[in-house]
Amino acid sequence: MGAGDGQVIGTTQIVDHGPASRKWNLVILSEGYRQAELAKFHSDCASFVSTMFATPPYDELWCGINVYRIDVASTDSGAKDPTACGGTGANPKTYFDGSFCNGGIQRALEVNNLAVHMVVNAQMPQAHMIMVIVNSNEYGGTGGDIATFSLATGASEIGLHEMGHTAFGFADEYEYYAGCGSGETGHDKYTGAEPAQPNVTADSNRATNKWRDLVSSATPMPTTINKDCSKCDPQGNPSSAETVGAYEGAYYNHCGAYRPQFNCRMRALNNPYCAICQRVIRQTLAPYMASWTWGTNTIGAGQTQRWWLSWGAYPGLEWVGVQPATPGAELDWDTPGMQQNADGSALYWITVRNNGSTAVQFHFRGNAL
Ligand SMILES: [Zn+2]
Repeated sequence: MGAGDGQVIGTTQIVDHGPASRKWNLVILSEGYRQAELAKFHSDCASFVSTMFATPPYDELWCGINVYRIDVASTDSGAKDPTACGGTGANPKTYFDGSFCNGGIQRALEVNNLAVHMVVNAQMPQAHMIMVIVNSNEYGGTGGDIATFSLATGASEIGLHEMGHTAFGFADEYEYYAGCGSGETGHDKYTGAEPAQPNVTADSNRATNKWRDLVSSATPMPTTINKDCSKCDPQGNPSSAETVGAYEGAYYNHCGAYRPQFNCRMRALNNPYCAICQRVIRQTLAPYMASWTWGTNTIGAGQTQRWWLSWGAYPGLEWVGVQPATPGAELDWDTPGMQQNADGSALYWITVRNNGSTAVQFHFRGNAL
């Protein structure tokens, strides 16, 4: 098992917004793909990246993000699927030893993190976030030191949830561990200290709650109460989807732990990140968003546009460029023009052409270095 069961092929940068030293670098590796299946990994990767790009708040932070793909071929396809969790008993030889059923939970899909780190250190040591896509159609993922997800229906959604844990330190906002109907014990009421994670709390007091700045005075605190702590709360949302408050049932407990909105991607897939999670994502990525003077526009197929940037004072050493925001799109542009005015201000311009056959959204940016 392990590194003898395949080989590292190499690294390809698939989203490029500038030098790795100045950007938040997401690295995605393949697990359980045979060499002949790596083209499928490329498309699975592209599918995740386009979902991420369309997901708030990553859409507005995209210029701060680079994405790298590391192709790793395994001897066999898939992941281990122990019968102990009701799996098929599959036991393929794969590079990172991907396996379901960690801790006795079928959906807990893990890999050999040390082996992943060794590959990343050799290939892309500036990684901020490491993600492994596991070539299995069974539902699963985890978000510890490294995030994993499989190719079950909604795979990219699982990836976004797990990235929430790994990159931003989010807790699960759901109120069970094995499942609401699993008969599990020990999840009735949270009695521990205030959780360190930003998106769950034991404190529903309006005056001291950690996200109180986002709670309206009209919103009851707590916002919902679970009347029967022996089980998950069956009640629907009494407020609007975007209302921030303290909803009881979170952090693997039916009672005693609260979540910020009724729903969030960290509670159930196919929901937006809640306002608290979004705020943390923005704060984490802010250092990678240079103080650009910038604009965004869309340029139609075969069209040419000229864009200007102006500074009140000559910025000195400068960087001016155009970056397609539509994944996979390409644009052509001329060397930027520059004019220094008598009042000390400076004007830059750039002419952009879209020689492709579809419209392209792009950012036009400049920055004093
Ligand atoms: Zn959340």
